[in-house]
Amino acid sequence: MTSENMDFDVAIIGAGVVGCAIAREMRRRDLRVAVLERELDVGRGNSSRNSGVLHGGFTYKPGSLRARICIEGNHGFDAVAEELGVPFRRTGKVVVGFSEDDMRSLERFKAVGEANGARGLAIVDGARLRELDPSARGEFALHSPDSGILDPMAYTLALAKNAALNGAEFFFDREVFGAVRRGELWELFARTGAGARDAEIFRTRWVVNASGLGAAKISAMLGIPGYTIRGFKGEYFVLDKKAGAALRMPVYPAPDQKGGFATHATPTVDGNVLIGPDSYIVEDFSDFSTTSARMAGLVRDGLKMFDEVKPEHYIRNFAGIRAKRVDPATGEVLDFVCEAPEHAPGVINLVGIESPGLTGALPLARRACALLAGREDTRPNASFDPRLRGSDRIAGTRFAAADDAGRSAMIARDPDHGEIVCRCENVTKAEVLAAIRGPLGARTVDGVKTRTRATMGRCQGGYCQTRIADILARELGLEPSEVLLGKKGSNLFVGSVRP
Ligand SMILES: Cc1cc2nc3c(=O)[nH]c(=O)nc-3n(C[C@H](O)[C@H](O)[C@H](O)COP(=O)(O)OP(=O)(O)OC[C@H]3O[C@@H](n4cnc5c(N)ncnc54)[C@H](O)[C@@H]3O)c2cc1C
Repeated sequence: MTSENMDFDVAIIGAGVVGCAIAREMRRRDLRVAVLERELDVGRGNSSRNSGVLHGGFTYKPGSLRARICIEGNHGFDAVAEELGVPFRRTGKVVVGFSEDDMRSLERFKAVGEANGARGLAIVDGARLRELDPSARGEFALHSPDSGILDPMAYTLALAKNAALNGAEFFFDREVFGAVRRGELWELFARTGAGARDAEIFRTRWVVNASGLGAAKISAMLGIPGYTIRGFKGEYFVLDKKAGAALRMPVYPAPDQKGGFATHATPTVDGNVLIGPDSYIVEDFSDFSTTSARMAGLVRDGLKMFDEVKPEHYIRNFAGIRAKRVDPATGEVLDFVCEAPEHAPGVINLVGIESPGLTGALPLARRACALLAGREDTRPNASFDPRLRGSDRIAGTRFAAADDAGRSAMIARDPDHGEIVCRCENVTKAEVLAAIRGPLGARTVDGVKTRTRATMGRCQGGYCQTRIADILARELGLEPSEVLLGKKGSNLFVGSVRP
């Protein structure tokens, strides 16, 4: 199906944190913007499968794009977190060491960080390390005061919501499988859930490839072959908030012989702790399963840095797959790419956006827009509003975070705050309804989860999942058997027991 309605100035492939940041930045200009995403929601790829660390920028090669976007993203994060109401804390981070080799690594990082423009880096002794974080183990450490923690899914959603409120159009369940250049336009072929025959055609002057693990394939489709992405999977343990109370900041071990970081302990903005990720190469970029053998390794490595890695604190596991651009001959990991080559007109191509892609999403988005602005004049969008407002913001609006007076005021304003849907995380019916009714509203149980934290507590949805399914069915006019957990085909119920 094609129609005038499917004609855009810019079509972005991928609704991860990078695609959503680009959509928001593009809407600062008077451009008709579409985002095409194969999943049913934003941020279902690596943007919700990471450590949530705002990196300090002391490990990336000086002058590289990775280093530059990391520092720029780090220094600018307070401003965007405030505009969008995204939970974020500049906790600082420590990389702990025990040996002379470790000390040499940390001194090297300090020099690299200073060359990159990282602020306040210092090597601290054991006494100072324990002042900074009493639970961290180590003889000494590199302290990066500018590092921080954020909720990656909240950030991705906030960018997407703000882009949508400013007029960007999101199309979910659209897997782009083909692209043809016709005159001055690209035609993008997108498969919908209904099958290949029901492909839709989106016509657009510019295509932005922000497809993460799919970037090499899409790049070749758009006339830029030759990139290789290798998937480095990393698995995590999520620990209960009881463990979280003991950890103030991310604690990393000094790097291994190859210069990579092993398993680290990272507090989340909501008070949990992540133990992980490890790292191993995978061929299947869609397999986010976790394995007991890997979990055993995480416990062993996690305990080297943090005492609270105890079975009674385990509540969940997950995995992400780092999309590293490599030299296929040597396996060497190469820099991020953000380009608009002359030989591929109308294409902005982002490849190899692994860590620190979360930290650097906004600077990458600015560069993508600058590439377009370098080729044509665009008018500013006079009505662009960079702020999210009211319950679209997360910071300061959650019932769970309010004190008693705040909660009473919320219930007085909306009695649906008086009904708790998720007991572990104290999520109210009003919050679940806002998640479904708001801009880019949730369509699945996982959609409600990522917007509200319902199901993310100790019982992992044992109490609230069916209640959320019931609310979704009523709000969206679905049969219970049509309610999905997250992906297509993940129906929660097969039918009714009673007629
Ligand atoms: C284990 C791990 C830990 C990390 N930790 C950190 C960290 O602490 N700090 C940090 O800054 N960074 C971190 N990162 C990196 C960060 O998560 C990524 O750089 C960032 O999420 C990349 O965002 P993206 O939008 O490019 O990709 P994604 O989030 O993967 O989004 C790409 C989207 O494109 C869609 N897509 C793909 N192909 C198609 C197609 N053909 N048609 C339509 N849609 C398509 C996918 O479904 C997906 O939604 C980590 C990454 C991993 C894996």
